[in-house]
Amino acid sequence: MKIKNLFLDRDGTIIVEKHYLKDPDEVELLPNAVDGLKKFVEKGVNLFIVTNQSGIGRGYFSVQDLYKVNKRLCDILSLYHVQIKDIEFCPHSPDDNCRCRKPKTYMWEKLQKKYNLISHETVVIGDKLSDVLMGRNAGFILNALVLTGYGEYSLKKGPIDCFDLIAKDLLDFYYLLENRGCL
Ligand SMILES: [Mg+2]
Ligand SMILES: [Zn+2]
Repeated sequence: MKIKNLFLDRDGTIIVEKHYLKDPDEVELLPNAVDGLKKFVEKGVNLFIVTNQSGIGRGYFSVQDLYKVNKRLCDILSLYHVQIKDIEFCPHSPDDNCRCRKPKTYMWEKLQKKYNLISHETVVIGDKLSDVLMGRNAGFILNALVLTGYGEYSLKKGPIDCFDLIAKDLLDFYYLLENRGCL
């Protein structure tokens, strides 16, 4: 199996979890995040971000605030020649019972149609069970937990058999996949 697409959670996976982040100046990359992403890019893997942003639905910040944060993140990453192919977000609160909030798969379905993605060429990594379950629900080949952000807590909470792979950070994730011959 060869991985062509990587679905990434944003908060706690690429950048430091800041609890309803709305200020672009607060965007802070996690250790080894950019180094890991660079390696995936070098292998020709397409990077996508799919992120639950219930702070919008809860009224804590606006869609415009979210765009500014995402733009800052993409600007920083582009300094390292890391391009994010696309970003999807769910703006709803859990009570809205929408079809996009992870672990639901509508964000995947949108990107899948737009770019003709194949689920068994796609993997996900995130710091919460809902990230990993989204990948499972979408039929991805591998659904990984990262131990940054809420990752340690998610690992304790389990259930552990939901996680196909557990990585310390995005660089560790890259090497784990490389060792498996997936890249
Ligand atoms: Mg997260
Ligand atoms: Zn939604």
